[in-house]
Amino acid sequence: MKSGPLPVVIIGAGPVGLAAAAHLLGRGAEPLVLEAGPAVARNIRQWSHVGMFTPWRYCIDRAAEQLLRAAGWTPPPADDVPTGGELVARYLEPLAALLSPHIRLNARVTAVTRRNADKVRTSGREDLPFVLRVVGPGGKLDRIEARAVIDASGTWGSPNPAGADGLPAPGEAEAADRIVSGIPDVLGADRARYAGKTVTVAGSGHSAINVLIELGTLRETEPATRIVWLMRKERVEAAFGGEAADALPERGALGSRARRLVESGAAEVLTPFRIAEIAREGSHLRIIGDHGGHPASLVTNEMIVATGFRPDLSISREIRLSLDPWLESAAALGPLIDPNLHSCGTVRPHGARELAHPERDYFIAGMKSYGRAPTFLLATGHEQVRSIAAALMGDHEAASRVELELPETGVCNAILTPLSAAAACCAPVPAPTTAASGCCTPATPQGVCCPPKQALPVGAPCCGSSAPAPEPVVIASSCCTGPSAGKAAAAACCAVPETV
Ligand SMILES: Cc1cc2nc3c(=O)[nH]c(=O)nc-3n(C[C@H](O)[C@H](O)[C@H](O)COP(=O)(O)OP(=O)(O)OC[C@H]3O[C@@H](n4cnc5c(N)ncnc54)[C@H](O)[C@@H]3O)c2cc1C
Repeated sequence: MKSGPLPVVIIGAGPVGLAAAAHLLGRGAEPLVLEAGPAVARNIRQWSHVGMFTPWRYCIDRAAEQLLRAAGWTPPPADDVPTGGELVARYLEPLAALLSPHIRLNARVTAVTRRNADKVRTSGREDLPFVLRVVGPGGKLDRIEARAVIDASGTWGSPNPAGADGLPAPGEAEAADRIVSGIPDVLGADRARYAGKTVTVAGSGHSAINVLIELGTLRETEPATRIVWLMRKERVEAAFGGEAADALPERGALGSRARRLVESGAAEVLTPFRIAEIAREGSHLRIIGDHGGHPASLVTNEMIVATGFRPDLSISREIRLSLDPWLESAAALGPLIDPNLHSCGTVRPHGARELAHPERDYFIAGMKSYGRAPTFLLATGHEQVRSIAAALMGDHEAASRVELELPETGVCNAILTPLSAAAACCAPVPAPTTAASGCCTPATPQGVCCPPKQALPVGAPCCGSSAPAPEPVVIASSCCTGPSAGKAAAAACCAVPETV
């Protein structure tokens, strides 16, 4: 790399972008952080109400900590677990204040290229500076040159759609006013939107579970709130993760709370459910899809889509990237993080070597470096930028050293403890039951799929139609009408009328 007066430009002032700046400063380089938002950590501010699952000890970068301590900062207790908002207020804002001469806010990068060279030109390419197109306040266009670029712009801005095939389902865009992607503040700012409504949550990761737990809390004071959980996974247990086996207890606890929500019947689960279409019906939405191989649909007031994120690679269209074909991470990183093969606990720390692209001195770091893989941890991102900063400064020994020990985690090693029989409406039923014994006993699934059956009054008609049964949501699901003998009894209880 040619040294010169040009800065190393970092795209995004999230925790990883700011950590990159701290490492570069520590090595005597000149970083410039370009942040699209009016303040740092714009993405985390959107989930500031959400509790993190890693304690402070795994949230703070070492170079950043050194800078902060030198300025008199006291770190929060290492084992306390912050919310997103606390991470911003107690760590990222003080850090940004120290780094402020190196941060430009309201600066959205729209494209990166090499000066006077499109992607095809090879000759002399590596000696050309990078050029970044930047949109500032009022749409003002700027052009910034850099000797190296670290793209730490995250993936929060490009959520996955609800459609099962990776594309927005037909009607999804038209229903945008009833659909929120991510983690709305169900107990705070967004409470009125969800209280007393039928709310359908799509997704099975931690974001979905966070939303479900908050909806469960909302339901305690707003009992008319109905929670329906759709996921593509074959079995809901796979969403609960490592639970007690997770070395990150907060993350394990999330899975356990989700299990309780399901087993108590507070959340009704339809799995596997693949969303094919979303249709507007007045002020409601009809979600149409495939439930366990059978056509199904349901009506809902609101939908929350928490199906993960994907990188927006449009800014690097003129950059020579080498990407994993399906994860869209750096190619060499793909096999290390592939969620088809790896649990989170087996993702090794990695650095500049694994994150390199054919375009020399261009790196994608942080959440975005994992592409579509959902297993990123901040601590890994801090190790990435430590290594990248060393590589950019020619310290190849430090760049290839591993300085991180990640906590063991069983979060992806789902322990498939089956749900209680009452909740397992859609699971194969071990032994056929007769309608008489199956339908009218407390052990029988009743009503919509999966809420545990409450004891019926003696003499109540089959399926408790005269009892105050929960208002059904599922309208055409064949969850409980499958051909297996074991499901036959439940079928009688699950043919329910359509309603929200
Ligand atoms: C709800 C939730 C909880 C999480 N909890 C944990 C946890 O407990 N522990 C853990 O280790 N990890 C956790 N993660 C994962 C990960 O650590 C976080 O997502 C983290 O915020 C990623 O940091 P980042 O800096 O890579 O990206 P981000 O925090 O997303 O920051 C990216 C920044 O880039 C800016 N930006 C985007 N596009 C542009 C552009 N074109 N030009 C300029 N700026 C741009 C954004 O405004 C933003 O400020 C969690 C993630 C989520 C979503």
